[in-house]
Amino acid sequence: MAGRVDLDGNPINPFTICMIGAGGFIGSHLCEKLMSETPHKVLAVDVYNDKIKHLLEPATLTWADRIQFHRINIKNDSRLEGLIKMADLTINLAAICTPADYNTRPLDTIYSNFIDALPVVKYCSENGKRLIHFSTCEVYGKTIGAFLPKDSPLRQDPAYYVLKEDASPCIFGSIEKQRWSYACAKQLIERLIYAEGAENGLEFTIVRPFNWIGPRMDFIPGIDGPSEGVPRVLACFSNNLLRREPLKLVDGGESQRTFIYIKDAIEAVLLMIENPARANGHIFNVGNPNNEVTVRQLAEMMTQVYSKVSGESSLETPTIDVSSKEFYGEGYDDSDKRIPDMTIINKQLGWNPKTSLWDLLESTLTYQHRTYAEAIKQAMSKTTAN
Ligand code: NAD
Ligand code: UDP
Repeated sequence: MAGRVDLDGNPINPFTICMIGAGGFIGSHLCEKLMSETPHKVLAVDVYNDKIKHLLEPATLTWADRIQFHRINIKNDSRLEGLIKMADLTINLAAICTPADYNTRPLDTIYSNFIDALPVVKYCSENGKRLIHFSTCEVYGKTIGAFLPKDSPLRQDPAYYVLKEDASPCIFGSIEKQRWSYACAKQLIERLIYAEGAENGLEFTIVRPFNWIGPRMDFIPGIDGPSEGVPRVLACFSNNLLRREPLKLVDGGESQRTFIYIKDAIEAVLLMIENPARANGHIFNVGNPNNEVTVRQLAEMMTQVYSKVSGESSLETPTIDVSSKEFYGEGYDDSDKRIPDMTIINKQLGWNPKTSLWDLLESTLTYQHRTYAEAIKQAMSKTTAN
């Protein structure tokens, strides 16, 4: 830990980070990395702390004096500004960020992703503090290629689908497709942060995650989240596998995604944290362009991997089709394809993802099986008994 140097060979001094949303999926992995591999301090802000409990207790942990949890809802808590002032850097992860909410709770989604982030940007700007803000790959919306005829050869041309931070447009559906409430709110907060940088000198970095997945992502419905809740695809499919139900393919599972292992992505964030001169003023795609699959292929691979790690045979009918209206309700729409361009992050931070989709699913599903299989069995036997 001693003698850490940045990418330009300069020593890195320990600093204090105000991490908002530290109790979530990404926050928990980032806190873990910062505690185990760096000397930095974390003021962890969230309404929940279940996913970082192992870092907060017992008080004998070697990093106990470097992490403090503050149970704060940033919507309405005057302590937030004080914490931002105490820190050298603020990282804002707080958001409603599950697609099932975008069309069913559009107001909460817009408030969470835009209005609630405003004071964070303002406090950083007014107090001359650096900000790393978590946006999303969803700000790109649909690819240009999605609007070409299905048989157009141009669909194979990367110019029509690769997503570039400084060149690609943001293409959203119409207003009644409320799915885009999230992307639009994220886009506006990005523009506001960028403008604070341009007009008031705010030192910022914007991160656009491309489907980061791994242990502790979301929840398993009925076990550590609401029975009727709909998490992101990794947790939906894990839940189906654990319960021995067919995996549900929305609108045929034809959409394409690139999935990146959370631990690879956290390496990129640590480079941003420790190399401000290279990261400030930039927007970074963080994804793994080599791990592209359709959702159907993801379902098939997860079925195979789960069978390997659990020792259970696969179902005869491992997937079923479901319409998006049935699954998500009115107003759902989808991103067709998400390939991140890696030029900027490569040039600025020399970072590349490492883990293949098979390997990341193997470690993640091993975790899901170990963490939930027994609890699901018990919950299912109780339901049968009743
Ligand atoms: P998450 O839901 O696991 O974490 C978000 C955390 O923010 C939660 O712990 C939540 O309790 C907290 N939070 C929300 N509102 C809050 C409030 N008002 N006050 C205090 N805490 C609050 O999600 P995640 O996957 O860790 O995502 C973190 C960020 O990254 C989000 O901004 C999200 O939009 C962005 N992102 C993530 C992905 C991904 O692949 N995981 C993809 C695109 C964008
Ligand atoms: N999806 C699916 N079945 C599920 C959950 C999700 O087919 O049980 C699809 C969803 O329609 C989308 C993709 O999987 O095309 C990824 O969904 P996720 O919720 O992870 O978020 P997104 O990548 O759309 O932001």
